[in-house]
Amino acid sequence: MKHINLYEHYSGPELHTKGWQQEAAIRMLLNNLHEDVAENPTNLIVYGGTGKAARNWHAFEAIIKSLESLDNDETLLIQSGKPVAVFRTHEHAPRVLLANSNLVPAYASWDVFRELDRKGLMMYGQMTAGSWIYIGSQGIVQGTYETFAECARQHFGGTLAGTITVTAGLGGMGGAQPLAVTMNGGVCIAIETDEKRIDRRIETKYADKKTFSLDEAIRMAKKAKQDKVPLSIGLYGNAADILPEMVKRGFIPDVITDQTSAHDPLYGYIPSGMTLEGAAQLRRDNPKEYQNRSTASMAVHVKAMLSMKEKGAVAFDYGNNIRQAAKDAGVAEAFDIPGFVPAYIRPQFCEGKGPFRWVALSGDPEDIFKTDELILREFKENESLCKWIRLARKNIKFQGLPARIAWLGYGERARFGALINEMVEKGELKAPIVIGRDHLDAGSVASPNRETEGMKDGSDAIADWPILNALINASGGASWVSVHHGGGVGMGYSIHAGMVIVADGTKQAAEKLDRVLTTDPGLGVVRHADAGYESAIKTAKDKGIHMPMLDS
Ligand code: NAD
Repeated sequence: MKHINLYEHYSGPELHTKGWQQEAAIRMLLNNLHEDVAENPTNLIVYGGTGKAARNWHAFEAIIKSLESLDNDETLLIQSGKPVAVFRTHEHAPRVLLANSNLVPAYASWDVFRELDRKGLMMYGQMTAGSWIYIGSQGIVQGTYETFAECARQHFGGTLAGTITVTAGLGGMGGAQPLAVTMNGGVCIAIETDEKRIDRRIETKYADKKTFSLDEAIRMAKKAKQDKVPLSIGLYGNAADILPEMVKRGFIPDVITDQTSAHDPLYGYIPSGMTLEGAAQLRRDNPKEYQNRSTASMAVHVKAMLSMKEKGAVAFDYGNNIRQAAKDAGVAEAFDIPGFVPAYIRPQFCEGKGPFRWVALSGDPEDIFKTDELILREFKENESLCKWIRLARKNIKFQGLPARIAWLGYGERARFGALINEMVEKGELKAPIVIGRDHLDAGSVASPNRETEGMKDGSDAIADWPILNALINASGGASWVSVHHGGGVGMGYSIHAGMVIVADGTKQAAEKLDRVLTTDPGLGVVRHADAGYESAIKTAKDKGIHMPMLDS
């Protein structure tokens, strides 16, 4: 691959650019496209259907070149994966600002996007793909683990031991599901149409077994359920074929969900009865027919999920907008399946908690292990966090640069950032640490079928919040800040913002970290307090977040 030498060049503790923020942006862009990290690096696709890190290889090279020469008081602008300008700003400003896949609301459809994409004018940035903070399946694994843990608490007495979860999709994000289920003690059957994806999850220890036989999958799952031992099985097949077959046979799992890339009916979802090759051919020859078949299959898929729910399974939507597609295809009751955020995650958002992550730029796993020790030492009062860190250390194999994810909340993030910066300053770590998060966070996304579904005050579709999030993080001095459209759930259904900040051990970084790691989760608390959530109001008051109209 063209960029292979760049990996050798941009590694280790030495700086090759004019500052660690520029260097971090290069290393994180490369990491997003690392062959152990990205789902399809040859085509610049990182994860989530067609989520890309750069518009094309020419733009990729221009981004690297721009970052190599970027001064510490300059800012590079990226428009849908293409570098378009460098302006003089100031040292406390971000080094990169990115806007990906944004369309004027009345034009915000896949059809318009694809036309512009075909003309080479845009790219789909997903969430962390276009904003250079994807860290492989680990990025979602704690969120997935927490979701299943909350599901276990609400429905199964606190553990998934002795239960079977059925899901589909073993891609970049969906691949975290089998591991998250087994970490909660349960059994998971994950249906996947692409055998290579199953193999990848087994190689990276996210899944235990592979089978081509539904009979065998059911047999293994039932046995593990009976023995109450954790087990995950990648079952080769199409969810729209296999789920109805399960219902027909009377096999009803305890939990049913889905993480195929249903947000994108053309490139993300494989219609029923098709091989991957057949799907690729039809996609090329007749995209309209493909999309019709795709949405018809999603309707069948969701109907089977509803049947399982009716027969006693706990069902939830896992953030891929499959309910909307099914509803549009005539399944009127699709939204009887609750979304995972209102069902399991929102209480955490109210405290500013979300998928916070950090990456060792040195490439040395020891740097991450030292940060694990830091958490266990400095955050020992947070038992669930410490439990998570121990589990992660034992179960998670790094992909690309060593990284860690942990759901930290308001106050915790700023404290962690300061401590990490001190470790870098004292030379306890071999190189600086990059700190960031998913766009799926407390105050950074408007997505009415996902993160902001069913808000208490009906503010689901208000997209002012992610824009404010990006503006305040840029004002605070994040290293790079992004605003995207369509991530997670597809065109027209979401607006979201990303932020990344580098702890390079300097006093300037300490100041920026303190500001950004306060405002970023702070806005999450504010967004939920403003919507009337009691725990967010209490968090805002207890932590002294200034909200001018909170008491009036
Ligand atoms: P991906 O494109 O890397 O993987 C999707 C997988 O689904 C592929 O391996 C594909 O072969 C498989 N698939 C497609 N149609 C199928 C079918 N009919 N039956 C069985 N398998 C099928 O995507 P990803 O990164 O894993 O993300 C999956 C979805 O989850 C996306 O819609 C994404 O936007 C959403 N998502 C959810 C969260 C969350 O927290 N819940 C986070 C990120 C992304």
